[in-house]
Amino acid sequence: MLLYLVERYGAENLVAHYQVLPEDWPETLPYTREVCDHLGVHLLAQQVLYEPVGDGTRVRRLAIRDIHTEADIVPWGTGVIAGITDLALRRGWPPSPGCRFCTSYFKRDLLNAWITQNRSRLSADGEIVVALGERAAESPRRARKQERAPRIQRKSWKAWNWLPVHPWSRREVFRKLRDWGIRPHPAYRAQGMSPHQMYDLDEEGGPRTSCRFCIYATSVDICHQAQREANYALLHRLVEVEEQTGKTWWANRSASKLLEEDPCELRTMFLAWPSTESETACVSIC
Ligand code: SF4
Repeated sequence: MLLYLVERYGAENLVAHYQVLPEDWPETLPYTREVCDHLGVHLLAQQVLYEPVGDGTRVRRLAIRDIHTEADIVPWGTGVIAGITDLALRRGWPPSPGCRFCTSYFKRDLLNAWITQNRSRLSADGEIVVALGERAAESPRRARKQERAPRIQRKSWKAWNWLPVHPWSRREVFRKLRDWGIRPHPAYRAQGMSPHQMYDLDEEGGPRTSCRFCIYATSVDICHQAQREANYALLHRLVEVEEQTGKTWWANRSASKLLEEDPCELRTMFLAWPSTESETACVSIC
């Protein structure tokens, strides 16, 4: 989506806002920075922190931090509510597709707070446009979304959500990256997606690159992620959430069970997937 916006409006007229979570893939911050630097787009990465209020499940916003390097990211488990597992412990249950408080607290509300603080810089006429990369083919819920819809409405100003790549296919997105000589986020390859699947097959589905062990992750994605040493600490954190809340992290799968399983067969299966010359045609900027 960002590439489309750069082509249409110019990098100097855009700001990329990344809402950082300690549960994100650690590659995301350096990858996002490199892509934005390459394009000349100003990147603002921010993390929102919350603090508990009273004895129940309530929290209130404590701070919004600008994130420049990975060392700036406040990890989970420090006492403040810095990420999804912290909030899950505070609320006594993990997020779920029916109650996606992870998105609302750490993504939607953070972006809304930044837009509100910066509204006069973002638009002279009181009309702010927030472009999001959601596509109709990703899910029935996203298919129902309007390409333009109100996001924030106040008396003197308004922010709109705009979905510029809503009708695009997955293949179109990967091909746009290839046209610009930008390799896809490394999390796609790490979860078994081949260049053939990215650039040649006109199919939907496939792994996600936002939070590791996302509540929407498929069994295959989860198994790939569980094999990475860098994810062990998070996996153990999910087990802690399950033990303290008495609920599984995913609707039909538990993190504790995952730790007991041997995912080696999956690894073999994905190593055997086909690859094409597309990979060499895609010049890495990282
Ligand atoms: S990527 Fe998944 S776990 Fe992370 S905020 Fe979005 S829905 Fe929640």
